[in-house]
Amino acid sequence: MSVSTLPTYDDVVARYEPVIGLETHVELGTRTKMFCGCRTEFGAEPNTQVCPVCLGLPGSLPVANKAAIEATIRIGLALNCSIAEWCRFARKNYFYPDMPKNYQISQYDEPLCIDGHLDAMVDGQEYRIGIERVHLEEDTGKSLHVGGATGRIHGATHSLVDFNRAGIPLVEIVTKPVPGLGARAPEVAKAYVTELRSVVRGLGVSDVRMEQGSMRCDVNTSISLPGAEWGTRTETKNVNSLRSVERAVRSEMIRQASVLDSGGRIIQETRHFHEDTGVSTSGRSKEEATDYRYFPEPDLAPLAPDAAWVAELRAALPEPPSVRRRRLQEAWGLTDHDMDSIANAGPVELIEATIAAGTTSEAARKWWLGGLARRANESGVELDSLPITPAQVASLQGLVDSGRINDKLARQVLEGVLAGEGEPETVVAARGLEVVSDTGALGAAVDEAIAANPDVAQKIRDGKVAAAGALVGAVMKSTKGQADAKTVRDLILERLGS
Ligand SMILES: [Zn+2]
Repeated sequence: MSVSTLPTYDDVVARYEPVIGLETHVELGTRTKMFCGCRTEFGAEPNTQVCPVCLGLPGSLPVANKAAIEATIRIGLALNCSIAEWCRFARKNYFYPDMPKNYQISQYDEPLCIDGHLDAMVDGQEYRIGIERVHLEEDTGKSLHVGGATGRIHGATHSLVDFNRAGIPLVEIVTKPVPGLGARAPEVAKAYVTELRSVVRGLGVSDVRMEQGSMRCDVNTSISLPGAEWGTRTETKNVNSLRSVERAVRSEMIRQASVLDSGGRIIQETRHFHEDTGVSTSGRSKEEATDYRYFPEPDLAPLAPDAAWVAELRAALPEPPSVRRRRLQEAWGLTDHDMDSIANAGPVELIEATIAAGTTSEAARKWWLGGLARRANESGVELDSLPITPAQVASLQGLVDSGRINDKLARQVLEGVLAGEGEPETVVAARGLEVVSDTGALGAAVDEAIAANPDVAQKIRDGKVAAAGALVGAVMKSTKGQADAKTVRDLILERLGS
């Protein structure tokens, strides 16, 4: 089907009602894996963090990681779930080349946490998203497809498998279906994942980096005519950024509408989202749960979290992000809309830390929502993955406040810090970026500018002081922006007797 036949988004939401659902996987930041003592460091040499258990060798037996169970219960509590008094792990049987046991230890009809909710904000309006379940499972390994242009299996000459990730604890958070969002569905989906990320990050149980895969999102979408039964849903996988959560819902709504409009029917299937093009392609037709032949995992004892322990974990939960935001909004003196845009862009914690490091809320917001947000966008990473710390942003702003650099030089210093040249102070010294306000040093440049622009100089002598701007500009240019503009202006007026 050619692109030109696709209906517009406005047209789609005028005629169809969407229902969305989100399944989010969070890799826990435990020191060891879910069922063995292997380390979990990201980026280690392939197949160096493996043992008989996570390689699925015969005779090896799993032992559950208590820290992972605790982290999952804390996530459940933070999402207002009930914690099961008794539950079990289950075997989910299927073949994947990067899953050596040919089954995944997961949870099926007895998840650890059930029936909660999380509120997501869009433009000052709150949307309550029901949480169906939060369960614990193990991650698979990773396949690397080599020899093709795209890194995908299509066109590859061979594939390599890295089992370092196999067995890392993975928490799956599944929402209830969310109907009634209308045109807002894509934004609410993004706001929910953003909020979920804040909650999990606040608990300190995962670094929740979507671009590194420690948080991954599958998006279920269906559309139907108003009042009709819900449509068949598809599941879009590989949604690896917050922006793409929104894009995936929107593009799938449009795709499904175009299929229905042309008299076709939606097939229940898995689709793969492509970050680069923003479109999804058809994957496998979706299995039913019965295809996996789930059964209780016989090698692990059931879980029965002690009520007193759960109560202890509940009492020790951190301040929820929504409460924290309200507190900060008041402290920073922001409108709902301003606070929403910060929350949706993600940098609440970064701005908070920058202010704590000694700068104003206005300056902190300017850096994180301005130049740094642009840079993150261009590089396709999250703000907190940029190689700059809140303390460095605060010290950069400190240099501006003290008059040692101006805004223009500050942008160059920022470039230097992002390029790994060290602290702002070091970059200023190494690149010689300090503002020159020494009248002796600037005098020659001022004289040159006057000599080169006799007409302008005459106007100023005649009392047209406003014309001095042109000469200030000339001096700024010849000093590569390093002159202190006020000093230059004073020198010009002094020399021309105005
Ligand atoms: Zn292992």
